[in-house]
Amino acid sequence: MKICMVGTGYVGLVSGVCFSDVGNDVICVDRDINKIENLKKGIIPIYEPGLDSLILKNYKNKRLKFSTNLNDSVIKSDIIFICVGTPTKKNVNNVDLSQIYNVAKDIRGSISKFKIIINKSTVPVATGEEIEKIISQKVSKKLFSVVSNPEFLREGEAIRDFTYPDRIIIGTSNKKTNKILKNLYSPLISKGAKYVNTSRRAAELIKYASNAFLATKITFINELANLCEKIDVNIEDVSIGMGLDKRIGGRFLRAGPAYGGSCFPKDTKAIAATADKYKTNLSVIKSVIKSNKNRSSLLLKRIFDILKGKVKNKRICFLGVTFKANTDDMRDSSCLSMIPMLNKKGAKINYFDPTGEKTEFKKLNNVHFSDNIKSAIKNSELIIVHTEWNDFKSINFKKYVKSKNFTIFDLRNIYSSTEMKEKKIKYISIGR
Ligand code: NAD
Repeated sequence: MKICMVGTGYVGLVSGVCFSDVGNDVICVDRDINKIENLKKGIIPIYEPGLDSLILKNYKNKRLKFSTNLNDSVIKSDIIFICVGTPTKKNVNNVDLSQIYNVAKDIRGSISKFKIIINKSTVPVATGEEIEKIISQKVSKKLFSVVSNPEFLREGEAIRDFTYPDRIIIGTSNKKTNKILKNLYSPLISKGAKYVNTSRRAAELIKYASNAFLATKITFINELANLCEKIDVNIEDVSIGMGLDKRIGGRFLRAGPAYGGSCFPKDTKAIAATADKYKTNLSVIKSVIKSNKNRSSLLLKRIFDILKGKVKNKRICFLGVTFKANTDDMRDSSCLSMIPMLNKKGAKINYFDPTGEKTEFKKLNNVHFSDNIKSAIKNSELIIVHTEWNDFKSINFKKYVKSKNFTIFDLRNIYSSTEMKEKKIKYISIGR
């Protein structure tokens, strides 16, 4: 099939490459000229394991193309996926849908034969109706069909998640469109993915509901970890004991810092705002949002306590600053509040991240990037393990840290408390 992905970010690029890998002709379009020119040269804009070789393979065999020309790409395609950003509006919890609506306006002039317009971006209920309205101002409704097909891939596992999804949600009541899309997804269905056809509105809500539920699980176990710390119980035992119950499941049940990333924070706010708009109250989700906000402050307070309130000139090292491992995505990482706050109090911060230096910290005095773990931790008094990269799992701290009196604060529980005790390292973790 001939496909156009509008928006070549984490979702558009991964989905586009994976669709081309199963035999479709895909054009990935972006308004960012730099991104597209780099992709043509084989420079990949994001860190995602396995993505570079898959792009190279499909670009070489000409099933995958990159372009900034939206109109030409839409004319050449039968299926158009909208994969642009849907961030939270400034100062309110509503979603900024301008990128989506701009695409809808921009593609109208290029529809002269039947096209399926699929919204893969995460959007509030009834956005599909609005897209349809915008396009139909200039194009006959017979010439297009607007579908909701939310994406569930996780950064860091994106290729696997796209190729072997648990489910494919297709929100359309158009039988012809549904048949075409079932055919498009048949390589994934044959590997075991469940194909679910729903109304467009239900598909839109399923995405928000799923993310809000996962955010709730994380917040639940984070709060339970606070209790465990007070009553001498290991949160890991609780997670295992709970997670083995199939009704609960063990995933997203690991205590750690506040949840972050490009999805959970904005999607929880968006679904709560939708409920407010329709005058119902999603009180559980609202308390999840509040609890998660408090979590970063609570962990900051723990850091102050560890340093006995003396933060000025303390040498602190952060290992990992992205919101989770195996991605370079900094959006809503809890580090974005923690590092500036410690910096403001006079701490001297070194950080290492396997995905390199971050522009977010470049303007801060006394926040330095080290390009390797050894030099990052060498002069530290406090080492904060912020992200669970495998690179951090077997560091010989005793050998590389100069001070005899350093402390490790492990926000991801990647080390064994017993082993740290045996090594006589001051070690504090979460909920144990
Ligand atoms: P992103 O910011 O990485 O990428 C969006 C891209 O769209 C950018 O490259 C931008 O330049 C491009 N763009 C914007 N307007 C355009 C236009 N008019 N024409 C062409 N290109 C345009 O965003 P993302 O992380 O890929 O997320 C996209 C959507 O998918 C969001 O709604 C998000 O919530 C959802 N989603 C994201 C993930 C994830 O893990 N990142 C997972 C599932 C769903």
